[in-house]
Amino acid sequence: MTDFLTAEALSERARSAEIQSAGVICDCTKTPLDGWQSQPLSLDETYLVRVGTLMREDDPEPTYAEYPPGASPYWSANAPIAPHYFPYNRCDVWACKHCGRLYLRYTEGGGYFVDRRIREVKSRLVVDAEL
Ligand SMILES: [Zn+2]
Repeated sequence: MTDFLTAEALSERARSAEIQSAGVICDCTKTPLDGWQSQPLSLDETYLVRVGTLMREDDPEPTYAEYPPGASPYWSANAPIAPHYFPYNRCDVWACKHCGRLYLRYTEGGGYFVDRRIREVKSRLVVDAEL
């Protein structure tokens, strides 16, 4: 079972990852992942280990609402990371084995259109906004 991380836990974990990885050059940063990206081919998936999830077991149908409501800057490198909102409520949390950087991943779409997306977690962007 994967550990559920609250917004607070995610933020704390990201903060220690930032301290650990500060100034560390790692192959996982070849493509900037400050905002959501389709998972780049430059990223070696074997670098990543799953360390937790933002998906709630008690919520089988997480909302598609984005944060802030009506004005979500989804693709922005400064978009807030609000675990109760889309797409964060569908994400697992991953860490790079080599440098410790923290990432979120989820699969966008379904059927004919499937896109695996990834974004680095920045602790300062995590917001604990309730729905
Ligand atoms: Zn790395």
